[in-house]
Amino acid sequence: MALTLYNTAKREKQEFVPLVPGKVGMYVCGPTVYDLAHIGNARPVVIFDVLARLLRHLGYDLTYVRNITDVEDKIITAADANGESIDELTRRTTEAYHADMAALNALPPDIEPRATEHIDGMIKMITTLIDKGHAYEAEGHVLFDVTSMADYGKLSGRNRADMIAGARVEVAPYKKDPADFVLWKPSADDIPGWESPWGRGRPGWHIECSAMSEATLGITFDIHGGGRDLIFPHHENEVAQSCCAHDGAEFARYWVHNGFLTVEGDKMSKSLGNFRTVRDLLGEVRGKGEAIRLKLLETHYRRPLDWTSWGLEDAMVRIDSFYYALKDVRDIKTGPLVPDQDLVEALCDDLNTPLALKILKDLTSKLWAAEEKSERSKIKGKLIASGNLLGLLEYDQKEWFQGEISQRREVLASDDIDISTNENANISRIEIDELIAERLKEKKNKNFSKSDEIRDHLKSRGIILEDMPGGTTDWKRA
Ligand code: AMP
Ligand code: ZN
Repeated sequence: MALTLYNTAKREKQEFVPLVPGKVGMYVCGPTVYDLAHIGNARPVVIFDVLARLLRHLGYDLTYVRNITDVEDKIITAADANGESIDELTRRTTEAYHADMAALNALPPDIEPRATEHIDGMIKMITTLIDKGHAYEAEGHVLFDVTSMADYGKLSGRNRADMIAGARVEVAPYKKDPADFVLWKPSADDIPGWESPWGRGRPGWHIECSAMSEATLGITFDIHGGGRDLIFPHHENEVAQSCCAHDGAEFARYWVHNGFLTVEGDKMSKSLGNFRTVRDLLGEVRGKGEAIRLKLLETHYRRPLDWTSWGLEDAMVRIDSFYYALKDVRDIKTGPLVPDQDLVEALCDDLNTPLALKILKDLTSKLWAAEEKSERSKIKGKLIASGNLLGLLEYDQKEWFQGEISQRREVLASDDIDISTNENANISRIEIDELIAERLKEKKNKNFSKSDEIRDHLKSRGIILEDMPGGTTDWKRA
């Protein structure tokens, strides 16, 4: 089945054809590790996780690279403000990032290069750029000379006036042109720095991704992704560096960018401090990251997404409804785990996840309606496999309703933040089973006020009892 993707570089949807048949290299800009990830940071992670799953489903041998930016000025500022060492801050926030993204069912990338492990490659690339006349040294800095590249601005479609007026271009006296950007900058003794031909210093942010993508995927590779806020200047500058270092050789072939996420109608940014961390949201859904993931996938990735509290509650109800359907067929053998063809087609159409979710919902309706055991078994397999392609329905229904999912996902393992704010986690299965048995005994003895008391007691501890036909009782965590 042909996959089409919207390529920012060409401004149109294109059929995806990899450089080497059967193989795909994909690089996605990862986090700058100075703080907990917010829900905006989770959007590209979930989107590119779906793309990775889809590419593998289509049979491609994928190498998925997502970097960790562990040297950047925001890190230095945050470590200083926290009174924490840089190593400790980057270690702690990287661990938290891994745990949070795993709780959203995002699979780890195949390669996760850290900027600090690729400084030699950056110095080498900067040296090449100077040698080829694309960069110059000034006051301990090395700058990329944008006038040396005829195509500079092509990816973002910006002309020179836009670039200079655009926010993130720093004006400095040592720049020949205000749009020139930093490849290397000097470091004082008390901040991270590496010896280089231009003195002790550290890399600029853009060169990090050019060096890491080349080291992991080669000079030309298939897909480069990230949020659309990165198109200019970050990705524009990556193109400039990588193409000019290799005499105009092609860099990324398909540029895929996700739309921006706002919170309750407002722009969210770490610097404004109004961000909702993934960790807070996981607490709100008691570790059930699939609800957050569902919410993120309900909007097409290229559109803006406004995150609201009610939207998350709504998503929680909807993800539960999928699991209720699976609960209904818990005693029926799972048929072949093959995803629905229409759902695969929807994803192949530039990752149409809203349509894919509608198809998933239709599958649950078909499951409820089916009467034949063999039919139910077939749909059950299809539903699970289709959900899994989207990174959903990865739990057994019993675990979903009764388990402590956050613990399985090791979110609680990191010691700095405890998301187990509800006391439900404090009641064990054994205690629940004992109380249910006691309640049934009281009921049998027609001691209804006592049996109601036990039901209410369990409810107060977050356990909802569901009486089933035949006198048995099932339960779920509220
Ligand atoms: P950062 O750590 O800020 O460099 O961001 C890591 C990734 O998250 C990048 O791909 C950004 O484009 C993306 N990102 C950051 N904020 C948002 C947002 N509000 N909406 C969507 N993507 C975002
Ligand atoms: Zn990058």
